[in-house]
Amino acid sequence: MSLAIPPQSQAHQPGVEKVMKPLAVHIRPEYRGSGKLAGKRALITGGDSGIGRAAALHFAREGADVAIVYLEEHEDAKETVRLIEAEGRKGLALAGDVRHSAFCNDAVSKTVEAFGGLDVVVNNAGVQYVSLDLTDITDEVWQHHMDVNVNGYFYITRAALPHLKNGSAIICTSSINAFSGNDSLVAYSTTKAAEMGFTRSLALQLADKGIRVNAVAPGPVWTPLQPSSWGVVDPQAVADLGKDTPMARCGEPWELGASYVYLASEDSSFVTGQTLHVNGGKVING
Ligand code: NAD
Ligand code: MG
Repeated sequence: MSLAIPPQSQAHQPGVEKVMKPLAVHIRPEYRGSGKLAGKRALITGGDSGIGRAAALHFAREGADVAIVYLEEHEDAKETVRLIEAEGRKGLALAGDVRHSAFCNDAVSKTVEAFGGLDVVVNNAGVQYVSLDLTDITDEVWQHHMDVNVNGYFYITRAALPHLKNGSAIICTSSINAFSGNDSLVAYSTTKAAEMGFTRSLALQLADKGIRVNAVAPGPVWTPLQPSSWGVVDPQAVADLGKDTPMARCGEPWELGASYVYLASEDSSFVTGQTLHVNGGKVING
């Protein structure tokens, strides 16, 4: 089922879905919901596209109402909300910048107001800028990674926590790069490792409250992040995405969706502080 991806690039982050060749698949038509998240209310950052959209559509099919936070990709967000609503659930799109705590507070408030509460938070909005040499990373680029990938996860979670209760779940999208390192993604990998520390420590802090905190660490996945990060440096690197995994391919967003369902639902009630490695077969230590 290897995906044929031609060389390509998108000039700016965040990238968008509609110019990706081929278009990504976020949920399989034959995926059957079984009410695993019936009546739950979820907030997913970066939920307009890619892995976040996959989580959003799987949550909706499992019975959850879903709010998505995104930066500025209005068309992608509109389409995600349309697809959530097509599952018979409520969808809410919230545009703004997770680097600002005031926006994160507001996004959580609007979600609670629209849905009457909040049960599941997915921290997933992220940026990734490729740099082959550490000395080429400017203060601004380094700080941008920290602001979105680390501070954004903190701001959203801090705002959400007062609304969460026994049975609630927090899921952080980390990356294989937190574990394996990546010679071209030092700043990014640093933030993805920070997210792991955040996940594990918060899991310990919240264990006695019955609020679970886990991570998903994807390997290479076909999302707008790829042509808008690797593609800027080398369009051929996009075509080669995932060829170095044991399965010799990249994953599709739909292949991540059920992991988020598992970590959000009661099926994982004895699991906290853990990481699901969905990466095409690379064995991870740690
Ligand atoms: P994506 O481009 O679809 O999603 C990233 C989202 O982050 C965007 O939709 C954008 O709206 C949001 N975002 C970026 N900056 C923001 C800001 N300042 N404020 C609010 N939102 C902002 O790409 P994706 O690959 O689905 O990325 C989702 C997560 O998956 C990221 O955390 C990424 O690090 C992680 N990840 C991706 C891969 C992969 O191969 N695609 C692998 C490992 C981890
Ligand atoms: Mg997007």
